[in-house]
Amino acid sequence: LADPAPIAWRTGFADLGPAFLTRLQPTPLPAPYWVGRSAEVAAQLGLDADWFASDAALQAFTGNQLLPGSAPYASVYSGHQFGVWAGQLGDGRAIALGETAGGLELQLKGAGRTPYSRMGDGRAVLRSSIREFLCSEAMAGLGVATTRALCVTGSDAPVRRETLETAAVVTRVAPSFIRFGHFEHFAANGDHASLRALADHVIDRHYPACRDQAAEFGGNAYAALLRAVTQRTAAMLAQWQAVGFCHGVMNTDNMSILGLTIDYGPFQFLDAFDPGHICNHSDSQGRYAFNRQPNVAYWNLFCLGQALLPLIEDQDQALAALETYKADFPQALETAMRAKLGLAQPLDDDRALIEATLQLLARQRVDYTIFWRRLSGAVAAGMALAPVRDLFLDGAAFDDWAVLYQRRMAGGDLGQAGARMHAVNPKFVLRNHLAEQAIRRAQEKDFSEVERLHRLLQTPFDEHPGSEADADFPPAWASSIEISCSS
Ligand code: AMP
Ligand code: MG
Ligand code: MG
Repeated sequence: LADPAPIAWRTGFADLGPAFLTRLQPTPLPAPYWVGRSAEVAAQLGLDADWFASDAALQAFTGNQLLPGSAPYASVYSGHQFGVWAGQLGDGRAIALGETAGGLELQLKGAGRTPYSRMGDGRAVLRSSIREFLCSEAMAGLGVATTRALCVTGSDAPVRRETLETAAVVTRVAPSFIRFGHFEHFAANGDHASLRALADHVIDRHYPACRDQAAEFGGNAYAALLRAVTQRTAAMLAQWQAVGFCHGVMNTDNMSILGLTIDYGPFQFLDAFDPGHICNHSDSQGRYAFNRQPNVAYWNLFCLGQALLPLIEDQDQALAALETYKADFPQALETAMRAKLGLAQPLDDDRALIEATLQLLARQRVDYTIFWRRLSGAVAAGMALAPVRDLFLDGAAFDDWAVLYQRRMAGGDLGQAGARMHAVNPKFVLRNHLAEQAIRRAQEKDFSEVERLHRLLQTPFDEHPGSEADADFPPAWASSIEISCSS
């Protein structure tokens, strides 16, 4: 106890006051053990490496021991779930430890019941916690905006889902965990003073440029905030679509005000390219199908705009702020797809080539990640397209496309193009079956596969000789994996 506090805290979200949160303590779990740890996130937090390896850290990040200076709380929010107003929600199983002096919030997910748990047990199971840990760190490795994960701890304490599972806690890290739903909450309650306090907090802490940009919206900084969030969200969606990431539960309470990927649940990286793919087994209508994500994000931004309307006052300003999505998203996606194709200088016909490429992949259900990686290698090798052609059942259709592509790439430096492509087309993504293999081992107390995948996915653009199997097609059993909201 004479040791200096491992984390220096500062005031933050919690200072907004009791309308926003409830102070409480995590509920301890018996005999915790380490499941996964990120040295990179620990370094960002300035954690001492020895302390992070200690039993004190294990207890702290399981919620068994309070970190000195931390005053934990759960926050309240509301939201639209599957397009329907769900009323009050909140951190039902996430407990914030506070904000570090470096401006990062720490949150324990699965650390026990809160006043917002409703019928839930406040817990998270090992399976979903490993998925969240690996995917947040994989997304960071891919350069996609995301919340981070410092570590996962487990306990043999039973947790009932469809079957009996065991408990785990993920320590999540982000500059803020504020969601669209936080704004919707105060708007729905007609608590405009809190709504304003929240918006001012977000602008002051995370979007200070909005004060200056207010001039573009008749002096209204909240309209500038709505535009800034719209822009960040558009950029994130372009990253998702380009890398083939399906979130699975894009409810407004799962939308970060910072445009970070948040709340990893039934997510999936596409295997075969199916634009209509539905990764969430509970999403019977396909509301959150892969190709619907960009429009859902816009719908969600519209909810945010609605919530901010009491502050923006002028509906036309709100609509103008939202309108930027319609240009920003396609532009960001086109830029990302052009990079995947290795096109250096933009040309008018690029959009048609991108469209033709995606249609070809969709028609033949070609593996999305493998296609782009093989194409990168083919270009780097001077347009040696045979390994790419092998991916297509209908070789003639590929040949037709290849004529267009080769014409577009003619005259450029293929070596340089290939190098650029290798830096944007990952060799490794967290496919469902890879996560599943790590989970099955972890359920038998072997965490080496979690560690191995974690390390691999930190640098997914590198070759990693010896890891070819992780870059291969999914095995046949992968299609039988069913991931639902239950986690
Ligand atoms: P999600 O679908 O995971 O985004 O969760 C929606 C809401 O349900 C959020 O307010 C969560 O905090 C809450 N929730 C989900 N699972 C649990 C659980 N096991 N215990 C308590 N609350 C939960
Ligand atoms: Mg959620
Ligand atoms: Mg959740």
